[in-house]
Parts: sequence; C-alpha cells; structure tokens
Amino acid sequence: MNVAVVGGGTMGLCTARELVNRGHAVTVFEQHEPGTMFGSSFGRSRIVRQAYPDQFYTEILLSGHKLWYELEAESGEKFVHETGLLFVGPKDGTETWEELDVLRNLDVPHKVLTSQDIESVHSCMTLQPSEIAIMTLSAGWADVPAILRHLRRHLEGKQCPIMNQRITNLPELGREFDRVILAAGAWVSKFVDAPVTVTQQTFAYLNFTSVGPVWIEGFGDHIYGFPSEPGQATSKIGYHTAGPVRDPDSPDRTPDPMALNAILEAANRRFDGTRRVFEIVEAASCLYTSTANDDFRLAWLDDKTLMVSPCSGHGFKFGPWIGQLVANLLCGEDDLANWPRFRF
Ligand SMILES: Cc1cc2nc3c(=O)[nH]c(=O)nc-3n(C[C@H](O)[C@H](O)[C@H](O)COP(=O)(O)OP(=O)(O)OC[C@H]3O[C@@H](n4cnc5c(N)ncnc54)[C@H](O)[C@@H]3O)c2cc1C
Repeated sequence: MNVAVVGGGTMGLCTARELVNRGHAVTVFEQHEPGTMFGSSFGRSRIVRQAYPDQFYTEILLSGHKLWYELEAESGEKFVHETGLLFVGPKDGTETWEELDVLRNLDVPHKVLTSQDIESVHSCMTLQPSEIAIMTLSAGWADVPAILRHLRRHLEGKQCPIMNQRITNLPELGREFDRVILAAGAWVSKFVDAPVTVTQQTFAYLNFTSVGPVWIEGFGDHIYGFPSEPGQATSKIGYHTAGPVRDPDSPDRTPDPMALNAILEAANRRFDGTRRVFEIVEAASCLYTSTANDDFRLAWLDDKTLMVSPCSGHGFKFGPWIGQLVANLLCGEDDLANWPRFRF
C-alpha cells in the first residue's frame, strides 16, 4: 500500500513506523519543523504508565506499555525512565478507589502508601494524613525528543520521506495515495467537524531537585509531576485541567498565569519538607485536543481516509499501540467496530 500520513507528531510518526516496518510505502506530511512547540508532542517528557482509574485504558496498556521497549530495542537507546508512578488522592476519594479497583481487578502489582511511609519511595514528597498514594512500578517518564528523533531517523532509513508541507485538501491526497491517515492533532477540526476542544496547557520547571516516581493527583486540577531529569536541579510540574481554548494556528503559546499559580501551590502542598521558596525557572505550554469523556476518536472519513485523534491529554503513552492499531485497521486485521469507545 502507498500511504500518506498527515501530521508528523507522535501519532503520525508511530503509525508511519509501524507501516514501513510492515513493508508499506509511506509519506509523512508535517507543516512545522521537527520538535515544534505548536503541536501536542512538545516538551522533554511524558508520563507513561499502566495504571488508570479506567479499566479500558489499563487493559490496553497491559500489552501496549511494553511496545516502548520494542522501540528501545529497535533504536539501541533508552527512552523510558522507569521510576514508577504515585497516584495520590484522598483516602475516601472516588478516583482513588476507582484506580484501586482497576488494579485489583486486573492483578496489576501495586502498593498503597500513607503519609508515614511515602519517604520510602520519594525523596521529598509530602502526603497529608487524609491521603494515600498508590504506587505502581510499571511506569515512569518517556524522553519525548529522543523518541521523536529516533522515529524520524528510522523512517528516513526506510525511505519514508517526511515532507515539510501543510496539507489543505484530503480528497486530493486520496487520489494520489491508496490510504490517507489524518493524524493532525489539534488541527483535526480544520478537516472534520470533530467533537474536540483544543486548549492550551501549561507546565513548568521549578527550582528543586527530586528523586522518585512520577506522580499524579487524583483530584482537583489533577496536577502531575516528574522527578528531576538526569543532571538537572529542577523538577517539572504540570496542570491538567483544561486551560484557555485556542485555535492551533494562533502563534500564542504564553503559559497561563492561573495554571502557574496552581503549579506553585502544588509545589508547596507536595514538597513543603524541602523548606524552599519555590520559583518557576522555566514555563511552557502545549495543546490538548480533548473529547468530553477523554476517549480517543478514530473514524473512517471515507473508504480511504482514517482519522486518528488520540489526545485528551493522555495519548502519548499509547503512541506505539496506536501505530499498531492503525496499521491493523488499514491491513484489514482489525475493525473499528471492535473499539466502540473510540467511535466518532
Ligand atoms: C502539556 C501536555 C502534557 C501531556 N502529558 C502527557 C503525559 O504525561 N502522558 C501522556 O500519555 N500524554 C500526555 N499528553 C498528551 C500527548 O502529548 C498527546 O496525546 C500526543 O502528543 C498527541 O500526538 P499527536 O500526534 O496526535 O499530535 P501532535 O503532536 O500535535 O501532532 C500533530 C501534527 O500534525 C501536524 N499537522 C496538523 N495539520 C497539518 C496539515 N494540514 N498538514 C501537515 N501537518 C499538519 C501538526 O503540525 C502536528 O505536528 C500531554 C499533552 C500536553 C499538551
């Protein structure tokens, strides 16, 4: 098959990789430069994990998470820092119990920590006596630039051109190629009336060093954070609640002051034991493309064109799995009817 992939972000590149590995001819079209700050795959890190307070996504990741190690083996590089994950929430919080239920139902190894024993896994995190943290080991953070660099290099090595070009006409592409994959991230609504909202999401690096798992608060703004990157004296914290709505073509990516305040508050809440005055050393933002219930959207737009919209702020960790699913759909080895949660 001769396939066009519109979008050279995580999903487009993972899909193109899977297709070239299966022997198909692929051309990727990307409107921005590699590593662009304008899409959804911008930044140095993403949380990868199996644990979700939703059995559907945990089940996918029980097989999907290990695909990262296949990518590492293909490249000879280390992409995933396996730090483990702490899901932090009130002892009586709905999400805390949903998460625990899923882990128990699916036999995912986990440990429940309290304010007394949190220091056994995190160098400086604070838990309130009313909170618990659920630790899962099969999780950590992925080195996004290294992964995207490998994917581009791999595709070039397989004679898959990555054209720096903005596509405006999908039917025209459909006349030239056997299949077209629309993996345009936040730009999906420029082509389809998709039920998504594009928002600008802020994250920041703060002036403290931390060692330990990645962490997510299962309440409020679902603030999440990372340990320090190797050799760095800063730690990243991000704000998950939907930020300001954006047109992806607007060049404005100024971090949201309200989110920065919430990030500073979270640093004080989680790391007061460091006795630091927290400061933001670096702040940036990136786009979420969210559906109302955070489910991904995949749909055939016609007999040649498949729309692939896995974001809602949690898509990165599924990248290689999405690549596999899309290739299976194109090759007739799977059917979207098997994935009603992704229905458009
Ligand atoms: C701040 C932030 C934190 C996140 N944290 C996590 C996390 O911890 N864990 C996790 O799993 N996920 C996380 N996510 C979500 C994850 O990053 C996204 O799901 C994923 O990057 C989406 O990839 P994509 O390829 O769909 O989109 P993109 O990376 O945006 O790629 C789409 C590409 O298509 C190109 N394009 C669009 N239209 C055209 C056109 N007409 N012609 C040519 N090219 C076009 C764009 O330029 C863009 O490069 C986070 C997202 C953000 C913003």
